[in-house]
Amino acid sequence: MPTPAKKIILLRPRGFCAGVVRAIDVVKIALSAYRAPIYVRKEIVHNRHVVEELRAAGAIFVEELSEVPVGARAIFSAHGVSPAVRAEAKSRQLKVIDATCPLVTKVHLEAVKFARQKFTIVLIGHKDHDEVIGTLGEAPEETILVSTVEDVDALEIKDPDRVGFITQTTLSLDETSDIVQRLRERYPKIQGPAAQDICYATENRQVAVKAVAPLCETLLVVGSQNSSNSRRLVEVCEQLGVPAYLIDDLSEVQAKWLENVNNWCASPRVCKPLDAHES
Ligand code: SF4
Repeated sequence: MPTPAKKIILLRPRGFCAGVVRAIDVVKIALSAYRAPIYVRKEIVHNRHVVEELRAAGAIFVEELSEVPVGARAIFSAHGVSPAVRAEAKSRQLKVIDATCPLVTKVHLEAVKFARQKFTIVLIGHKDHDEVIGTLGEAPEETILVSTVEDVDALEIKDPDRVGFITQTTLSLDETSDIVQRLRERYPKIQGPAAQDICYATENRQVAVKAVAPLCETLLVVGSQNSSNSRRLVEVCEQLGVPAYLIDDLSEVQAKWLENVNNWCASPRVCKPLDAHES
């Protein structure tokens, strides 16, 4: 009996989302228009190879604006910044180029709207993620960060009739929907987006992983360890019982991950809808 050919299924959609492509373009255009050095606050995108390429072209990545010389040109990354960072940029007379993804800005505006209405804001997200730090900064006194259903159970909100929720854009769809459901149970009058603020790019990639997981024995996600989107794809796949690994590039693939893996398609008919899967 002939050995079945191994098959690699390439997911669609894959690659960078529109927000990240835009942010990378902003840095490249700034370098070409204004020449190096151009300062970039935080990694423009959580991807080691992209950051290294831009660094080689003259971008200088900094953690805080205090590292940028007064009056220099600075770019804010796709993850967004808090009003305090904008104020610091102004006080240092920086020439700012804002590469914040519009979908992140939308979440900031939701936070501002709730704060103006004197609502308590529940932000669903991961502590210490750049995007969450920026969003929290819009209304730090009024916002409570939750990451799990247990966090929701532990909430103590003075006026349960004036509560709103917003979410980080790069969360797991399933976990977030459990958290939102619990919030709605505890605070029936809670206001927020119809489902959550998870962006279309995050959602489409998780849906694609769910579609392909039953057809493969191992999933390799190309992305960096600090990329929330990439980590969620690994988790989504593992929750379906299929091992998944996060790699920056080919050099990180371990042979043992692929031992005895016959990652071939059961039938071309099953693969066709995957090939047709669009972003
Ligand atoms: S919000 Fe979505 S589209 Fe925008 S940068 Fe984040 S992952 Fe990309």
